[in-house]
Amino acid sequence: MMNLPLNIDFTEKVVVITGAGGVICGTMARAFAQAGAKVAALDLNEDAVKKLAEELKAEGFTCEGYKANVLDPEALKEVHDRVLADLGPCDILVNGAGGNNPRATTDNEYQHEAKEGQKTFFDLDAGGVDFVFKLNFQGTLLPTQTFAQDMVERQSGCILNISSMNAYIPLTKIPAYSGAKAAVSNFTQWLATHFAGSGIRCNAIAPGFLVTNQNRALLFNADGTPTERSAKILAGTPTHRFVDSEELLGATFFLCDDRAASAITGVVLPVDAGFAAYSGV
Ligand code: NAD
Repeated sequence: MMNLPLNIDFTEKVVVITGAGGVICGTMARAFAQAGAKVAALDLNEDAVKKLAEELKAEGFTCEGYKANVLDPEALKEVHDRVLADLGPCDILVNGAGGNNPRATTDNEYQHEAKEGQKTFFDLDAGGVDFVFKLNFQGTLLPTQTFAQDMVERQSGCILNISSMNAYIPLTKIPAYSGAKAAVSNFTQWLATHFAGSGIRCNAIAPGFLVTNQNRALLFNADGTPTERSAKILAGTPTHRFVDSEELLGATFFLCDDRAASAITGVVLPVDAGFAAYSGV
């Protein structure tokens, strides 16, 4: 059992979470279920969401796992029908599926430091760039087209997108991921405006730097000391620390609670240990 940050009751709320097979949204799915919600956990990785749902059900919570590709509107429509039948109409949609791709990442921070054989800006693969923009932007837009229909019908609901620190100022090496997350922040404002008269709020969180199993080797050497990149991250964070996935839950619950955040729509809330506020000087 997780120690939940806020005493918010989501009983009877149907919460649809994409990317729930991953680190951040898996943690959110657990938290929402523990807070009483009926959770629909969607992911391309069917095993991960089925396992998550089984674990939560064994603990007495309500969660169903669904294989879903956030880039496939037809498949999303099918999953939407199943969620409706299994749990009911969607009250809260968390658009969590997203990420970067190595094909859209340079080896170097600066062109003038490029060494023979390294992948520079000029070697970036157009298909890789397209993949990253599609996954993060369309991967937010398409599930919203599918599930926000439930909300419009009932004139009530809430959407939470996942942006990133790189949406404010791009991080070196990852131009496509930075641009795509900037688009997610921008789209959050667009949706907030578009659905303002439909009883739907739309906000985002912008997580700072998390240590996950996938990036641990990039951030720490075998002896546990920070790598050059993570030393830079820590130096650029005034609190000199990383963010834990459970530390995103307070902002998530707050923004998804219709009472606590009743007048909040169109914001992107950084959960970054101060990174975005610090000039480095
Ligand atoms: P993760 O890789 O652990 O989880 C992402 C999940 O999305 C995976 O389970 C993957 O299978 C799923 N997915 C990928 N493509 C999909 C598709 N087409 N359809 C459905 N599911 C798909 O990543 P995470 O670190 O938990 O990241 C979750 C979100 O938070 C992402 O949007 C990411 O960009 C964002 N984010 C992460 C960090 C971080 O430091 N980890 C920081 C800022 C923002």
